[in-house]
This record gives sequence, C-alpha cells and structure tokens, in this order.
Amino acid sequence: KANGRVPFIAGNWKMNLDHLQSIAFVQKLAWSLKDARLDFDGVEVAVFPPFTDLRSVQTLVAADKLPVKYGAQDVSAHDAGAFTGEISGAFLKALDCEYVIIGHSERRTLHMEDDALVAAKVKAALKYDVTPVICVGETAEDLAEHGPSAVPVAQLTAALEGVGAGADIVVAYEPVWAIGSGQAATPEQAEQVAAALRAVVAESIGADAAAATRILYGGSVKSGNIAGFMRQPNVDGALVGGASLDVAEFSSISRFQ
Ligand code: PGA
Repeated sequence: KANGRVPFIAGNWKMNLDHLQSIAFVQKLAWSLKDARLDFDGVEVAVFPPFTDLRSVQTLVAADKLPVKYGAQDVSAHDAGAFTGEISGAFLKALDCEYVIIGHSERRTLHMEDDALVAAKVKAALKYDVTPVICVGETAEDLAEHGPSAVPVAQLTAALEGVGAGADIVVAYEPVWAIGSGQAATPEQAEQVAAALRAVVAESIGADAAAATRILYGGSVKSGNIAGFMRQPNVDGALVGGASLDVAEFSSISRFQ
C-alpha cells in the first residue's frame, strides 16, 4: 500500500485443527500462496492455531521456509510460576511466534477478561518481543447505546495504558455482532472505527507508531467481501475466523487484490 503498511491477513483457528491437521493445512496453504506468487513483500499471511499445534507449525515453517507466519491465540499476563493452564510469552517466543492475539471477544466474554487483564497481557507479549494483535469491538447493544466507535476506542485506550511510545502492535476491530454471524460490517463502518482507533494509537504511543500500525477488520470476512475492506485507507488487513479453516478460501482472501 502507498502508506507503507504491509497488508496482514490473519487466520484465527479458534479451537479447531489438532497438530497433525495443522501440518497438512499449513503445507497446503503455503503451496497455494506460492502458486499465487504471494510472498512477504506483498502481503503477510499468518495463522493462529491452538497452543498444542505451535511446535509442529514452527518446525514445518522453519524447515521449508514457508511464506506463512504464525502466532498464538492468547498469552498469560505472568512470566512463569504457579499459574496452572497458562502459557508464558517466553514460551511463545521460544517457538518463534511472531504474534499473539489478545483480548478476543470470546476471551473477554467466556473467560471474563477485562480491560486491565488485556492491558497486562499486551505488556507481557511486548516484554518477550511477541507482537500483540489487540482485539476490540462493540456488541450490538453497545452500538445502539453508544454509537460505532465509543466502546472500541475505550477498549484500545485501556489496552495501551502504560505501553511505551513506538511499540510494535497490530489492532483488530471486530464488532461482536459480526463475529461468526455471517453479517459483516460494511467497509464504511469498518473504516470509520479503524480511523478512530488509529487516532487512539497516535495519542497513546505516538504518531509514528500510528502511521506504522496495521489495523485489521474482523467479523464474517470471506473471499467475497474482503476487497471492499482492503480498499479502505485505514483498514490494513483482516482477522478471519470461520473462513480461515478452509485452505482455498483463506488463500483466496489472502489474494484480496
Ligand atoms: P469470523 O470470526 O470470521 O468467523 O466471523 C472472526 C474472529 O472471531 O476473529
């Protein structure tokens, strides 16, 4: 893009595909991207498998130098110790995870993650040099009550509390009403909120960081609607759930042009 930001297409697998399935998937995805001559220069493509897949994906991507990046779906706010079931940012870094999703609406809702915990996780990821993909988004009730940008803006402001100037982050705007509903936001709605979120990044961690930060749209993205989002000046990519589980469809989304 003219703005210098490399488009980012991210696949959030959620709790789907075990480590054997992840190997087959990433192999096929890499072939498909290579066939389409997609490489890291034109677009960055990343998958976010379950924790138990990450070692397999790391081994495969490193051995074959595949044009696919990967990250985790969550990280602990803690470094190490008595935190049964949690995964440290240090462990993600040891598996060469470049990214980690933080504050997905399913974690906020199903695991009661609040803004303070999301902010702590963002700092934990940055501490280990893993780039956080910070998810924000309003429910249908929020939208009716507060309008389009208020809740995502408040969530991002809280998530960036205490984060140093120039931090390397990715932001994903995912309206809760659009996730898994088949009812995506319009490109214009996504642009309006993305612009507001970029202003938050500028205010929180500086103008240079705001110019460099990729802001993604997520919520019922598919090959048939990706182009409209990618045409928006403040939308730099997509966080894809359901449609990221099909190699052909996810590959097609990655060729959004
Ligand atoms: P969806 O999910 O693409 O299935 O709507 C998006 C997400 O939850 O990240």
